Amino acid sequence: MSTVWFQEVRVVEVAAGRVTAPQAVAVEDGRIAEIAAAPPRDAAVIKGAGRFLAPGLIDAHVHFFLAGNATPLETYLGSSEEVRLAIAEQNARLALASGITTMRDCGAPAALMAELRARLRRAPELGPHVVSCGAPLTRPRGHLHYFGEEVSTTAEVRAAVLRQLQGGNEFIKLIASGGGLTPNTDPAAADLAQPLMSEAVGVAHAQGAAVAAHCHATESMERALVAGVDVIEHASFVTRDGHRFDDAIACRLRSAGIVVDPTVVGALRSAAEIRRAGQSANPAAVSAIARLEGRLTNAARYRELGLKIVAGTDAGVTATGFDSLVDELLAYQSVGFSAAEALRAATCDAAEFLALGERGQVRLGWQADLVLLENDPLLDLETLRRPALVMKAGRVVVASEQRAALAV
Ligand SMILES: [Zn+2]
Repeated sequence: MSTVWFQEVRVVEVAAGRVTAPQAVAVEDGRIAEIAAAPPRDAAVIKGAGRFLAPGLIDAHVHFFLAGNATPLETYLGSSEEVRLAIAEQNARLALASGITTMRDCGAPAALMAELRARLRRAPELGPHVVSCGAPLTRPRGHLHYFGEEVSTTAEVRAAVLRQLQGGNEFIKLIASGGGLTPNTDPAAADLAQPLMSEAVGVAHAQGAAVAAHCHATESMERALVAGVDVIEHASFVTRDGHRFDDAIACRLRSAGIVVDPTVVGALRSAAEIRRAGQSANPAAVSAIARLEGRLTNAARYRELGLKIVAGTDAGVTATGFDSLVDELLAYQSVGFSAAEALRAATCDAAEFLALGERGQVRLGWQADLVLLENDPLLDLETLRRPALVMKAGRVVVASEQRAALAV
């Protein structure tokens, strides 16, 4: 049972939005064991030299098995299972090197996800903690059907929910509308029938698991509300007439305590790629650019209305790599979030709203998922891009050659 001390670090208290004077933080058995003025004599120390110790970041929406290149669907469909796993492992390494210590996967081939998680349990230094839904539930040939559970009856929904939870996944994902990545689906259309969504929520909640719904179409958001899901992914407000934010529905989401995950950066990069290529990967997504760019103004409005917001990038989708979370936070900042509010969406708020347990804060007894930063992230979110050191569950997992000088 060895203890290591961070010496002379300013602790970033994300919940309070402030940093402390230089102090010492002890880590033992994967947890934050003590916070004191200085380490005891002869303690093993990591020299902070006045740097900033912040919680590791949480990306609330990723797809490990998509490559995040210009054509992620083609890459996925054209790859062997071995190559798909290699892509996921590469994504995991990039995330951890970027200071992202927890990722929530929102849709993957279930068997490969189980394999990835087994590999990360054997070699935790190769990637972040993973929370996953396994295969998402979708209508036959619906969005993400290529690795989804295709369901059309309540009996199929019940079986699929139980299968994904028994497979070791923590939550259930419903594909409630079409998606930009999948031809022959329409983001403006609600895709999963109300009784199927309600059945999924009933079965999952009875098992103590949360339900997230992928919703672009406004109608799909209304169905998610009625079904009582816990989180709405994208929450895009798309109608047949294009993008239109609906304050009344947003306020109903707030009253119901439903969390929104606006996934801005993946959308902006997908929009940029559509402009460059001159067309969408999905010909049915006629107003794709307006729909995608609307996610930025949606995030601003959700904040103004006081909804629970978590930061997710949709990493894996078009042109969106596993190091994109800081760009998500900068996008929030560009539309009125303070740096502290943006950072909370990727740390303490994400942990609380998604029930991820004792992580997302530098706090006594909590999980030691930490990043050591050159600057104060409450003044400079950019500093999050280059952590001097990343610790996952009490273990230093990233400290590059030049950064190694920090550690004794
Ligand atoms: Zn997604």
